[in-house]
Amino acid sequence: MITQRQVFLQHMAQTTSFPLSLEIERAEGLYLYDTSGKKYMDLISGISVSNVGHRHPKVVNAIQLQLEKYLHLMVYGEYIQSPQVQLAQWLSNHLPEALNCSYFVNSGSEAIEGALKLAKRLTGKTEIISFNNAYHGSTTGALSVGGNENFKNAFRPLLPDVRILEFNNTEQFKLLSLNNTACILVEPIQGEAGIIPATKEFLIALRSLCDENNCLLIFDEIQSGAGRTGKLFAFEHYQIVPDILCIAKGMGGGMPIGAFISSHQNMQALTNNPMLGHITTFGGHPVSCAASKAAFELLYEETLLTQIPAKEHLFRSLLQHPTIKEIRGKGLLLALQFDSFENTKKIIDTCIQNGVITDWFLFCDNAMRIAPPLTITETQIKDACAVILNAIETIG
Ligand code: PMP
Repeated sequence: MITQRQVFLQHMAQTTSFPLSLEIERAEGLYLYDTSGKKYMDLISGISVSNVGHRHPKVVNAIQLQLEKYLHLMVYGEYIQSPQVQLAQWLSNHLPEALNCSYFVNSGSEAIEGALKLAKRLTGKTEIISFNNAYHGSTTGALSVGGNENFKNAFRPLLPDVRILEFNNTEQFKLLSLNNTACILVEPIQGEAGIIPATKEFLIALRSLCDENNCLLIFDEIQSGAGRTGKLFAFEHYQIVPDILCIAKGMGGGMPIGAFISSHQNMQALTNNPMLGHITTFGGHPVSCAASKAAFELLYEETLLTQIPAKEHLFRSLLQHPTIKEIRGKGLLLALQFDSFENTKKIIDTCIQNGVITDWFLFCDNAMRIAPPLTITETQIKDACAVILNAIETIG
């Protein structure tokens, strides 16, 4: 009989020739269990998704309640569906006035696509500025504004009028002309570059550039949002409000959903000339919206957010070793910097063998990702760090 592993390799399109290939049977909280019963700590949350842990009972309950009522009813934007309405209201209540209107989609890439279209429509301009080593998604538009040439070159021609600037460099702004710039798209904390926080100076400069040149500031908080850095959204650390906020991943509590968020006035640009300026069949699926509201409530109301600085501190204080060159990041979005890809890979492989799942980054192969469910406890952090330190010692 053909095994699941064989079907996976032969009948499912592969994204690399070396998939992790763990065969997970169930998941609960911080833990994944494979088909042999082996237990793993998930230190990466399915890449910043399981922020409230796997199958949090309140998320599961919200999903079950919605399953009793309805699944898909109609394409986005036509019917008044309570799970969508309630999520939009929750977001509007917890975001600044300039971000009071949500457009729900299915993924991070789609949130970026919608945001770029909105910026072009609102400004009547065409250029998009983004930054080196940025990752914004894999659809054609999102790929076009990514900051890694290696990933892009095989797929050209991509979107025209994209200018890639250097992240965290304000010097380059002195001679910058933004006459035809619709928007500046930035991750306040770059994820796939290896967790590189923007400096406050850099984001303030971007805000001023946009204000002075009638262009929109778009924050990609697909990875840094939904509580991961200790605030609901990372922009709150910087006291800067973007014109458009893109979110996804952790907002769904494990269900697929994304959103681009702006002001009600701005969003009207997608309603007329042409009408239906952005449409989606499944965007804001009622089950995903119900799960998302439950996840946001958990983050906010059960003091998960307020515990994050102490958890970050514990990781930072335990992970002291000469092999760790630097610990970067904010909250529970951290990177351990090593000296080479070879050592990083050996450490990660050993961690996984010893029951701690972690990985590296798309554009940074000599650092290790630490982005566990935010529900991780002090004892679990100590256990995970012991496994990591042990792996570092093993590779010598
Ligand atoms: N932006 C950022 C910062 C991301 O980390 C990702 C996903 N890794 C995306 C966009 C794309 O999201 P998705 O895979 O849901 O399309």
